[in-house]
Amino acid sequence: MKRSHAKFNVTILVLLFFITMLVACTSQTEKLAKQNQFILGTYGHIQVHAPSESKGNRVVQLAFERIREIENLMSATLRESDISKINARMDYSPIEIDRETLSIIQKGIFFEKITEGAFNIALGNLIDIWDTHKEDKKIPSNDSILHALKYIDTGSLQMNNNAISISCLNLQINLGGIAKGYAVDEAVKTLIANNVTSALVSLGGDIYALGYRTNKSPWIVGIQNPKLGQNNVIIKLPLSNKAIVTSGDYERYFIKDGIRYHHILDPTTGYPADNQLTSVTIISDSAIVGDVFSTAVFVMGLEKGIEFIESQSRVDAILITKDNIVHITSGLENKIEIIDSTFSL
Ligand code: ADP
Ligand code: MG
Repeated sequence: MKRSHAKFNVTILVLLFFITMLVACTSQTEKLAKQNQFILGTYGHIQVHAPSESKGNRVVQLAFERIREIENLMSATLRESDISKINARMDYSPIEIDRETLSIIQKGIFFEKITEGAFNIALGNLIDIWDTHKEDKKIPSNDSILHALKYIDTGSLQMNNNAISISCLNLQINLGGIAKGYAVDEAVKTLIANNVTSALVSLGGDIYALGYRTNKSPWIVGIQNPKLGQNNVIIKLPLSNKAIVTSGDYERYFIKDGIRYHHILDPTTGYPADNQLTSVTIISDSAIVGDVFSTAVFVMGLEKGIEFIESQSRVDAILITKDNIVHITSGLENKIEIIDSTFSL
């Protein structure tokens, strides 16, 4: 009797010790530092758990600086960027650019192959004509679209260690469908290199959840209602060490004669992808894959999109169709929670 009492006491002590340790650990890492910046044409938000708020703020700042470096290289609008340098070329001579930009162009071409052309980094002309028309809510002429579609062949790109040459003068590169995802991954790398183990990095619809939110409970990420936008979460899912990236027809668009013209373009038609989909979310190990695949699956449509994601390892997807049906790939069964009853699986 006495012995078991002693044992009981020891158990309590051991338990108390662990609880104290746990509390100590959380309070040590519990300071949350967060910052927002407008970057890469969107709202960036980074939050980290760090031993102190000032340390946290310092690493968040470093992560934003890393994203800014990528923006300065890969933006299609900043005049000094590598992409602007490429797009302003007047002849066929090689253009010296940063290795990092070269590697993302190369990745873009790789993704074009595996998505069978749904993703294409040479849509610059097409993106530009749709963008300028978006401002005055007009549909570009069919002729201008057909003209732009003549110059999207990435086969005319040639690269070596430090330069690119392009055998087609009219071709324009746009990394708008890949740079944000890459930037999220690089920001996360920066945080990890600075000993951060718990963070959330978000650039527009591209998010990475690093580690756990607290005490082994994962980050909870929400997917918004495509019709109502932010603050109207319809699906929740727990995530840790995963990227979650969403592309939707509700992000940038105009409506003309009842048709929604959005910013995800189908390289076979030159028009915004027009199918049953309204939102595509990819859950993957890296945000670059999520960024590219969310755009590509949006172009592929529901059936081909699901089939494509099922053929990829360690990638899952949530596709929402215009009739409010939520379609998921096999890896997500029983893992998501729909909290809005107007949507169903
Ligand atoms: P967002 O930038 O709003 O997150 P996406 O990640 O879906 O949206 O990327 C869309 C952007 O990618 C467009 O704004 C355009 O710059 C570019 N883009 C559009 N269609 C394609 C495509 N089929 N392949 C590659 N890039 C595309
Ligand atoms: Mg994308």
